[in-house]
Amino acid sequence: MSQPSSAFAAPVPAFRPVRTVLVSALLGALAAMAQAQPGAPEPAAAASAPQVAARPDPSAPKPFDEVIKDAQRVDGFFPVWRKDDKVWLEIPAERLGQPFLLTAGVNQSVGERGLYASQMGPDWTAEFRQVGKQIQLIALNMAYRPGADKPSQAAVRQAFAESLLGAAPVASAPHPQRKSVLVDASFLLSDIIGYSTQLEAAFRLPYGLARGESSFESVRADAGLTTLNVRLLFATPRLPAPPLTPPPVPTPPPPETTPDPRNFFVGVTYSLAQLPEQPMAPRLADPRLGFFTEDFTDFSTDLKPNQRVHYVDRWRLEKKDPSAELSEPVKPITYWLDKNIPERYRATITAGILEWNKAFEKIGFKNAIVVRQQPDDADFDTLDADHASIRWFVGADVGFARGPSKADPRTGEILDADIAMSDVFARGARRVLVEDTGSARAQVLQRATQAAQSLVLGGGRGDEEHCNYAQEAAEQMGFALDLLEARGDIAPDSPEAEAFVQAVIKDVITHEVGHTLGLKHNFKASTTVTRAQLKDPAWTAAHGTSGSVMDYNAYNLPLRGEPTSSITNTTLGPYDYWAIEYAYKPIAPGQEAQELGRIASRSTEPALAYADDADAEGGPVGGIDPLANRFDLGDDPLAWYSRRMELSRELWTRVQARGARPGDDPLRARRVLLSGFRQLRNMPEMVAKYVGGMQTLRDLPGTTDRPAYQPVAPALQRQALQLLSKDIFSVDSFSFRPEFLASLSPDYTEWERAKPVSIPAVVLQLQTQALDKLMSAGTAQRLLDLPNYLSPAQRKGALSLDEVYATLQSSVWSELQTGREIDPMRRNLQREHLQRVVAILTKGGGKLPADAVSLVRWHAVRLQAQLKAASARGALSVESRAHVAESLSRLTEALKASMSLS
Ligand SMILES: [Zn+2]
Repeated sequence: MSQPSSAFAAPVPAFRPVRTVLVSALLGALAAMAQAQPGAPEPAAAASAPQVAARPDPSAPKPFDEVIKDAQRVDGFFPVWRKDDKVWLEIPAERLGQPFLLTAGVNQSVGERGLYASQMGPDWTAEFRQVGKQIQLIALNMAYRPGADKPSQAAVRQAFAESLLGAAPVASAPHPQRKSVLVDASFLLSDIIGYSTQLEAAFRLPYGLARGESSFESVRADAGLTTLNVRLLFATPRLPAPPLTPPPVPTPPPPETTPDPRNFFVGVTYSLAQLPEQPMAPRLADPRLGFFTEDFTDFSTDLKPNQRVHYVDRWRLEKKDPSAELSEPVKPITYWLDKNIPERYRATITAGILEWNKAFEKIGFKNAIVVRQQPDDADFDTLDADHASIRWFVGADVGFARGPSKADPRTGEILDADIAMSDVFARGARRVLVEDTGSARAQVLQRATQAAQSLVLGGGRGDEEHCNYAQEAAEQMGFALDLLEARGDIAPDSPEAEAFVQAVIKDVITHEVGHTLGLKHNFKASTTVTRAQLKDPAWTAAHGTSGSVMDYNAYNLPLRGEPTSSITNTTLGPYDYWAIEYAYKPIAPGQEAQELGRIASRSTEPALAYADDADAEGGPVGGIDPLANRFDLGDDPLAWYSRRMELSRELWTRVQARGARPGDDPLRARRVLLSGFRQLRNMPEMVAKYVGGMQTLRDLPGTTDRPAYQPVAPALQRQALQLLSKDIFSVDSFSFRPEFLASLSPDYTEWERAKPVSIPAVVLQLQTQALDKLMSAGTAQRLLDLPNYLSPAQRKGALSLDEVYATLQSSVWSELQTGREIDPMRRNLQREHLQRVVAILTKGGGKLPADAVSLVRWHAVRLQAQLKAASARGALSVESRAHVAESLSRLTEALKASMSLS
């Protein structure tokens, strides 16, 4: 049936050749709408169907003024109208089909398991489009970019889809003069940021958004920005009853922080912000140093060998006086301290931010960065797209900081950054962070937290942008204070202890601000400082303890009797100056490629060593370079791990000698004990990385004669194996007085309370880490490939996979040769080793190379013989004899099974 309203339904072509055509199509539709007012002639219907007289269209939008009668207007980029609980966005005709930046941030949340307040969320390059009677909010696809020619534009548009973020019916006829239309803003009361998936990851319950109970909190607008704060209710109809028998994989409990776990409010700040009218000149990234980047695939030419393009994320910084040696910028980079930051930390945080001005002065900018305090009565939200900020957040189980930023995808110009800093530095928080290490419940909660955090927040950068520095720094701070207090070097709650805490906060803030200036982690920087320099109080006072604040720098704790130099890193390092120069140095347009090349070519200087997160581990490659690490210190990481072990042992000795005293927190000794273990938690893996390790360099082809990959020197690989054998596999490292372990009571005022500490369980966690790395497919593959990277002369004396398996086996099963009694912790270790061997023999080894599987079998046969010999001896305890007999039987079965497998 031909209805008068058919003018609205005039189909907008599904594929639009270019944006200008789209805009004119939309303007055409608007014109048609304007004509479709009651009483206006109805042009489209005239040509076809038998005509009835034009009559008012009951489904036509109401006149503009009627819709917003009695509503309040907030003028701005997109004007907002508000009446009671209704909110409309006014979409100016000229903004339809025009891209803008849409950002979302979480300003209020649950407070546990990765779901925290003050978190910057995803962002999109978006535009409003009118499709028939609907306004759609479209996320543009910026990841694939065509050239200027029409075929290329058509091909790219057809190949890669856009997404819909929200849609609503056109709420009014166009404004008679302004030609703008109204749209009901309640499409923002939906789960645009995908938070329900994060909730499901954290709680394993299906929370959905309850739109009826969600509402607008506040709106704010100015010429370049419209901000809407919404309060969303997430709810699940009911909680499932707990299963009668425990599930094979334990599930995390429902929310524990909300009054009713079935629902809770989440606050989201949406910003619709104008993209810069004059795009900033982009600067290309260089692999020799590390920035966050805007990445896309460039289809404009097929002449380039690599279509991927990476623009450095950086703020727009221009000299007020370009001819002056040192000039203030036209517009400084401004960080706002949110009003929620505790007053006692504000001065330190300011100092941490302004530390970066030293690097900007070197390239001619005075006061490049300024800090402002958000007043208590300010009406803006620092999570909006217009205020770079530091915000505080607290959580029931939390301890991290994030330094995310939002950039113009066209150019990499950073437009906003909101650093979320958790309150982990209150010294009472140390208890929460180290309690419950290794319990099944803690592991489930940790997995749920990681799952929730790895999802939406960050808007796609995910792992690359993740930063744990604050949490780890707080743990190191706890350990350092415990040790220094135990030594009597620092009094609890003294001004010195307070100064130490403030130094930790400054270091963390400088690190996070570095992220928001565009810098990624540099996990090699700490290895550019020598042990002698670290020991020197004068040197560390002047240079800090690392080549960069962008590393996760371990604390420079002196061993007993050594002089005390700077414990925390206190200032920017050479790498930081260099990176700021690359990203921010003003360069005349014609000289950019040459000048950037000159700056980046300094990468061969030892002080500027660089490696990122993927190099350290966790990335697609997995960690292979023993110099690219989190939380090591100095130019000899192996020596550092030995020191770390010694520090933990010293703390354990002191806390046992001290004993319990009246007035102690009941959990004090337990916390100190576990804190010593937590400091070691990544150590076995980092040591094992030497075995089959490769040193990596990022030199560009043809610029140096250094190899990109170089196997670690055989002596160092063997030293690493020895270290694991001596410090991790040996029980001597972990012996505690029975009276001490017996004194570690839980907190009886809490229903959920800790069980007795199991030292074997905690030790086994460290040991299995080393086993897993040494027996991994990656380590095996590299050791088998190693000879290919060595000249015939170098191959003599190189470490082989056979030697690694043999050394590991004789270290783990040494009692079979010595005839010594097997300690329970050693039996645990042997069982774990055997379990891995048996799995390889019976299941074929998974990704393990075939040569490695053969070698495992080769050594298993030798182990079988040793077990046979040992079971004939009678000197062992009954537990050890049973263990040997069972091991022999399991291994024999597995060897038989593997025969039938092959
Ligand atoms: Zn970081």
